[in-house]
Amino acid sequence: MIKIDLHSHTHYSDGHLSPQELIDRAHNMQVDVLAITDHDTVDSISEAMDYQAQQKRQLQIVPGVEISTSWHNFDIHILGLNVDFKDDVFLKRLGEQSARREDRALQIDAKLCKAGVEGIYAQAKILAGKGQITRAHFARAMVNKGVVKDMESVFKKYLGKGKRAHVKPQWIEIAEAISWIHDAGGKAVLAHPGHYDMTTKWLRRLLQEFADAKGDGMEVIHSHLSPERKKLLLELALQHDLNGSAGSDFHYPNRWTELGRNLKLPEDLKPIWHDWHIAAAV
Ligand code: AMP
Ligand code: MN
Ligand code: MN
Ligand code: MN
Repeated sequence: MIKIDLHSHTHYSDGHLSPQELIDRAHNMQVDVLAITDHDTVDSISEAMDYQAQQKRQLQIVPGVEISTSWHNFDIHILGLNVDFKDDVFLKRLGEQSARREDRALQIDAKLCKAGVEGIYAQAKILAGKGQITRAHFARAMVNKGVVKDMESVFKKYLGKGKRAHVKPQWIEIAEAISWIHDAGGKAVLAHPGHYDMTTKWLRRLLQEFADAKGDGMEVIHSHLSPERKKLLLELALQHDLNGSAGSDFHYPNRWTELGRNLKLPEDLKPIWHDWHIAAAV
C-alpha cells in the first residue's frame, strides 16, 4: 500500500521539526508522498527538496501551503497542493499574508498586555524564529512562562474566538485563496472540514461556496473524526464532485498524530492526486 500524507508542518510555521527532521520522520514512517503545507508560507520547500534529493529512500515531496482565509467569522484553511513555490506573484501574495500575521501578532500582544500578561510577543517571536508567527507560538510562550497550564487553556482563556486577547483576523476570502493557488498551478483543497466549530448547516453552506469558487478537493480523512462526521464529509465530497484528500496535519511528535497513519481514502472518491505523477506507484 502506497502511503500518501498531504498535510504537514515544519518550523517555518507552527510545526516543531525542521524540514530535514520532518523528512527523516516520514522515512521512518514509510511515507511515499508527503505534502509540506506550512501556514501561509512555502519557505520550507526548497530546503526540503534539497534534503530529500540526497536521500536513498524514495519520498516524493509535494510543495504545498495552508492558506488562512476568513469566512463569516470563521477561520477557514485552504491547502494549496503542488503549487509552483518559486512563482513570483504567488510569493508576493503570501508575503502579504505574512504581513497580516505580523500585524495581528502585535495586536494580540497589546491585548495580552492589557490583560496583564506582558512580554509574550518577544518570546513568541523567538519560538517562531525565521518562520511565520502563529497563535500556537503565543500559546507555547504563555505555557513556558507559566501563565496557563497547557495550550488548550490558552485558547480557552485568551486566544480563542471571543476571548480576552482574540483579534479578529483579516485574512483573504476563500475565493481569493483558491485563485492564488490556481494561478500558482496548484490544487485547492479545503483543510480539515470536520474541525470547524460550526453546525452541519454551516458546513453544507461552506462546501457549496467552496465548490462554487472552483475548489478542487476536500480532506475527507483527517485526525479526530467521528464515524458520523466521516460519513457526512464523504457525502459532501460526492455531492459537490470534489476530489478526496487525506492528511495528518502533523505539527510535532505526540500520542495522537503521526505522519502517514490511517489515511486511506474511501474508494468511491477520486483522489486529488489522480493526475499527478506518483513515482512510487509505478
Ligand atoms: P493562527 O493561524 O495564527 O490563527 O494559529 C492557528 C494555529 O494554532 C492552528 O493551526 C493550530 O496549530 C493552533 N491552534 C488553534 N487552536 C488551538 C487549540 N485549541 N489548541 C492548540 N492549538 C491550537
Ligand atoms: Mn497549525
Ligand atoms: Mn489548519
Ligand atoms: Mn495544518
